[in-house]
Amino acid sequence: MTASSSSPPTAGSALPADLPTGLLIGGEWRAAGSGGTFAVHDPATTDVLAEVSDAGEQDALDALTAADAAFREWRTVAPRDRSELLRAVFEAITARTDEIAAVITAEGGKPLAESRAEVAYAADYVRWFAEQAVRMEGLARRAPAGTHHQLVLRKPVGPALLITPWNFPIAMIARKLAPALAAGCSVVVKPAQLTPLTTALVAEIVRAELAARHLPTGVVNVVPSSSASRISRPLLADPRLRKLSFTGSTEVGASLLKQAADGILRTSMELGGNAPFLVFDDADLDAAVEGAVAAKMRNSGQTCVAANRFLVQEGVAEEFTARLTEAFGRLVVGPGDRPGTTVGPLIQQSAVDRVTEVVQQADDAGAQVRVGGMRPEGRGWFYLPTVLDGVTPDMRVVTEEVFGPVAPVLRFGSEDEGVDLANATPFGLVAYAYTRDVGRVMRLTERIDAGMLGVNRGMVSDASAPFGGVKRSGLGREGGEAGIEEYVDPMYVAL
Ligand code: NAD
Repeated sequence: MTASSSSPPTAGSALPADLPTGLLIGGEWRAAGSGGTFAVHDPATTDVLAEVSDAGEQDALDALTAADAAFREWRTVAPRDRSELLRAVFEAITARTDEIAAVITAEGGKPLAESRAEVAYAADYVRWFAEQAVRMEGLARRAPAGTHHQLVLRKPVGPALLITPWNFPIAMIARKLAPALAAGCSVVVKPAQLTPLTTALVAEIVRAELAARHLPTGVVNVVPSSSASRISRPLLADPRLRKLSFTGSTEVGASLLKQAADGILRTSMELGGNAPFLVFDDADLDAAVEGAVAAKMRNSGQTCVAANRFLVQEGVAEEFTARLTEAFGRLVVGPGDRPGTTVGPLIQQSAVDRVTEVVQQADDAGAQVRVGGMRPEGRGWFYLPTVLDGVTPDMRVVTEEVFGPVAPVLRFGSEDEGVDLANATPFGLVAYAYTRDVGRVMRLTERIDAGMLGVNRGMVSDASAPFGGVKRSGLGREGGEAGIEEYVDPMYVAL
């Protein structure tokens, strides 16, 4: 195991000199009304990367005023022009992949190769919704009783508040912003406090493309803040806001849903997960281990679709665990911008503390640490890739979303037992299953409670497919044909 975390090049040098650090309101970058700022850190070194303007309540309302004014114009812009704007944004993001990836790695910590992959993934959503913008089909028919004709039009819902998490600083905003703009909505973006720099770079790309086409630049407004509720509360109480799209924890999502209830707002909620990773006796174990590393270790385990519970059938449990242990031992922990790094730091000190705590609790309760189980020496918010064996369903490492590089292994006997274990969680975002039995695959599609299922694959996400969860993992879908529906209201016209 390699556990290096000594100092990378000065993180500041990774940032483009012209990276905006202000608020974007009505097409202008400006300081917060209070003049205040907050610090953004490099998790690999804990150094301060930048100071970003700290928006307050009045700034948030100013952003909504700008979004509301721009909406009146944007909703009338031809679908083809909206589509071409998004296509240009896709091209600009793709052309600037390395620059954006460097910012993602600097503020989020993930290895550069993962950051580049995230940029490509995000750009794919922008391209997909550029293509969808001109395919907003309605309906025309005679009423069944023959009394009139019916038109069903699809209209943008209006100004939307987009709140994003830190773990995919470009992908999470792309999945919301692109369908919103394609549908004809304007937006106020509240990026995660820990990673506002990537959002600023992307917002500037969109602003510049809008300005170049003489389109209303106020359709995209960005208000980073050290206090999320200082932004969300006044906006959710304002009748000009018509839509909330949130990605983040279930706890915060539930609280925002309550606040959105008074305004009867349209809401989309992409929330937490607790993904089961099922390995059956007939699985291809090489593929299962490769998929396990991908499903667990992307962004050091800090993804909503991270495999959180490895449920392995008894016949292959020892061999799978041994191979997974070996694979984790080969991972290279270090700063994301160091060549060869495969696992970056966690996002902040409290994340390291939490992972330490749940591993300790499992260890105390009788689990065995097969590899890892500690932080490496040196600075930065690192934790070693960890495999825990002998885990039981009541341990916190199983019941909670760990959000770290820890793979707990539980063993099961029959298929029924495996399915019951997989479903024994209030969450239902994604599940993974490794088996060569097609009949079993079909049974799993019926019996697994999740919005997504990866069969013999450790990655499921694609811009053209509906991403989202059931149970406490959320409401609504991002991507695919469904993604744009979140920003559209049908209007029935009788004539
Ligand atoms: P978080 O809920 O703490 O924060 C998400 C966003 O909400 C941030 O912008 C944050 O500033 C804001 N926020 C926090 N408290 C708020 C409040 N009281 N009012 C309004 N806004 C508030 O989550 P996080 O730690 O940034 O992200 C990790 C979580 O996100 C995990 O649970 C993960 O599973 C989930 N997630 C889900 C998906 C998905 O698509 N389902 C994708 C990525 C992350």
